[in-house]
Amino acid sequence: MDEGDGTSLLSSVTEIVSVYLHQNSVEPDELGQIITSVTEALRGALTHAPLTAAAASRPAADATAPEAAPSTQEQPAVAPAVPVDDSIHPDYLVCLECGAKQKTLKRHLASAHALSPQEYRQRWGLDRDYPVTALNYAEARRETALRIGLGRGGRAAAPVASKPMRKGRGRPKGTAKKVA
Ligand SMILES: [Zn+2]
Repeated sequence: MDEGDGTSLLSSVTEIVSVYLHQNSVEPDELGQIITSVTEALRGALTHAPLTAAAASRPAADATAPEAAPSTQEQPAVAPAVPVDDSIHPDYLVCLECGAKQKTLKRHLASAHALSPQEYRQRWGLDRDYPVTALNYAEARRETALRIGLGRGGRAAAPVASKPMRKGRGRPKGTAKKVA
């Protein structure tokens, strides 16, 4: 943008006009017209944004928007929705792609972002053992699986996420399972 278009334009005009003057005899008051038309022609050829228009529109824009704003915006900042350190909780994991809280990331990644856990870890530079299932959920699920297996073997398709504790009938209640 500001690579001295004005200067190069001016030197081009000077060059052309001086060549023209060399070959033609020109009255002093014609000189201005010649310079003007040469300048105009050059501007049209150089750019679609004539210097005068750019100069006219610039000050207004600059007054409201400082130069720094657009340049920072241009960075394709691929930042996680939350810091990686804040993404792991005992009860849920936070999706770094969109910030959704998930008990288990695997299905969410596949359906919402078309990512496998491996791709997800790679994408965000996560450790290989970065969990895709919240700790408490993993435990609850294991227990539920046990219960279902021991009780009636039928309802394997029931969503585990919906309060697995409720299901047990006559279970010994409230062992040490307090969720902090
Ligand atoms: Zn997500």
